Parts: sequence; structure tokens; C-alpha cells
Amino acid sequence: MKLDKFPKYDLTFSGPTPIQHLKRLSAELGNKVQIYAKREDCNSGLAFGGNKTRKLEYIVPDAIEGGYDTLVSIGGIQSNQTRQVAAVAAHLGMSCVLVQENWVNYHDAVYDRVGNIELSRILGADVRLDAAGFDIGIRPSWEAAMDEVRSKGGKPFPVPAGCSEHPKGGLGFVGFAEEVRKQEAELGFKFDYIVVCAVTGSTQAGMIVGFAADGRANKVIGIDGSAKPEKTRAQVLRIARNTADLVELGREITEDDVVLDTRFGGPEYGLPNEGTMEAIRLCARTEGMLTDPVYEGKSMDGMIQMIRNGEFPEGSRVLYAHLGGAPALNAYSYLFRNG
Ligand SMILES: *Cc1c(COP(=O)(O)O)cnc(C)c1O
Repeated sequence: MKLDKFPKYDLTFSGPTPIQHLKRLSAELGNKVQIYAKREDCNSGLAFGGNKTRKLEYIVPDAIEGGYDTLVSIGGIQSNQTRQVAAVAAHLGMSCVLVQENWVNYHDAVYDRVGNIELSRILGADVRLDAAGFDIGIRPSWEAAMDEVRSKGGKPFPVPAGCSEHPKGGLGFVGFAEEVRKQEAELGFKFDYIVVCAVTGSTQAGMIVGFAADGRANKVIGIDGSAKPEKTRAQVLRIARNTADLVELGREITEDDVVLDTRFGGPEYGLPNEGTMEAIRLCARTEGMLTDPVYEGKSMDGMIQMIRNGEFPEGSRVLYAHLGGAPALNAYSYLFRNG
């Protein structure tokens, strides 16, 4: 596999992200499996980082090389992606235009003021609210923002939703798998399963390719957070295939390589269910580790329920990929008003 041939611009802290043994959560769930977390949520000093920051390390070199001066991206109002793009633009001395759409049916009074969107504004991004609903594909509002930058003499560099439609969007998480392999060599064991939240797809897609290199593609358990899983599944497969070609994996990615569990993503994108809320509280109260109602609370819930149901063989070691997202918690303050 050839990841090194692609230029990478360091945006994360040097060295691997930490892997922590979640002993109290494992014990709470009966110690039938041991849970570990790989902390992508603390991977960077750029505005809290997260999984998009790792992806951007392989995307940003094209922006720099091509002489682009404005990063343009898109997401929901509480998008983590757009906050990370805003921080990276500031770090690189570029401008940033963000289209923030109405992806979530949620109306906390300050939903469009606090959390991620607040941070993006502080970071100097030109934030534009747009009424369009949830869709992970390419959007007209985004094309319009690109045109506007051009009409003012700027050179806009498009960073699609979740970095996922970008041809190099999957590379960062191929690197994640390589990093895990090195950490496993030091730990002296291998993880049996990797649990990861999936919405726009390039995180799981990159992992599938990275772990395919040692026969673990289908041990990457995607937990759907989109509540539109057919679209997410198709996107994961497509991006994984493209990424496998790029890094010369040496084999085709098949339908069977994509494991996407659709039980935990409801009721809608951006809205937690009972299980999500319980999982957020349990993880926080056993480990002091924060997860959010949009993404990581759903994958945490999926992992917890699978463990409770005995869906992982006894003695398994499960690696929970914590992809970030806690800055959105402020925007959901009403849900947590009683803890
Ligand atoms: C974007 C995001 C995800 C989903 O990753 P995709 O690559 O879009 O599937 C999960 N968790 C957090 C915190 C995110 O910001």
C-alpha cells in the first residue's frame, strides 16, 4: 500500500493519537470485552481538531500548491467540518467561506450562535446561513459561494461536506489504520473490531482500505449517524474503492467489506434518541469522556448496545474511534438541562 507518495501537510499534533483503555466503561458492561478509545477528538491544537483535521492533511497540499487563497466548505449549522476548515484556513493565512445549511430539525434558542458556529465566526470565517435541508452531496448554495469568491477576484478551493467527495478525502484514515498497526505492535495485541461513526463516509472508507491491508476491512463496524443509511453506505463503498485505487491496495473493495449498522442513527440526522442520550451520559460518567448527540453519541450507543447484546465474542478488544464533535454540545443545552 502506498500512502507515502501523497504529500501531507501537518495539521495534527506530531506522533500518533493516544489509545486509552476505557476500563471503567468495560467493567460497567461486564468486562466481557475490553474497550479502548483512539482519541481523534484531541488530535490537534487547531480549534479542537477532530476527524476532518486528519483528512485535511492530505487535501490542503493541493490548495497551497495551486495558489488558492480561500477555503470554501459546507455543512449543517453545527458542522464540525466547517469549524475545522475555518481553523485550518486561519492557520494557513487563507480566507474561509462557509455555507451552513439547515440540516437538523432542532431549535434550541441559540443553535446558530454557540458551539461550532460560534468558533467558526471567532476564527474569522465568512459564515452564511442557508435554509436548505440535509444532504451529503454537492449543493447549489456551495457552488454559488464559490462563484462569489471568484467574482471578487479570489481563488476558491472547494472542500466538500465532510471532505468526503474530495478524491483524497479517504487518505487520512488510511493513515489512521497504519498508525493503529504501529501502536498495536507496541501494545502487544491487535484489536478485533474498530467502531466508527459514519455520515459522509470518508472516515470509514479510509479505515476500510487501511485495515484491508491486514485482512480486517470487515472488522471496521460503521455506525450510521445519517439516518439515511443507503446513501451513506453507497458513499462509503464508492470512496473506499477510489481510495483503494489511489493507494494501490492491490485488491478490489467489495460490498462485503462495508459493514454499516443502521440501528442507532435515528430518529434523524442531528437528533439523538434515548439510547444516544444514555450513552453520552454513561461514557461521560464512567470515563470523563465527552461525546455529542449528532455523531459520537450514536456510535457510542451502538457499541454499548452491541456489547450488552453479546454481539462481540467474549474476550474481544474493541477500538472506539472517537472522531471529535464535543464542541456541538453547547448547542444542545436544552437536552441536558437536567444533566
Ligand atoms: C464528520 C464527523 C463524523 C462522520 O465522519 P464522516 O467521514 O463524515 O462519515 C463523525 N463524528 C464527528 C465528530 C464528525 O465531525
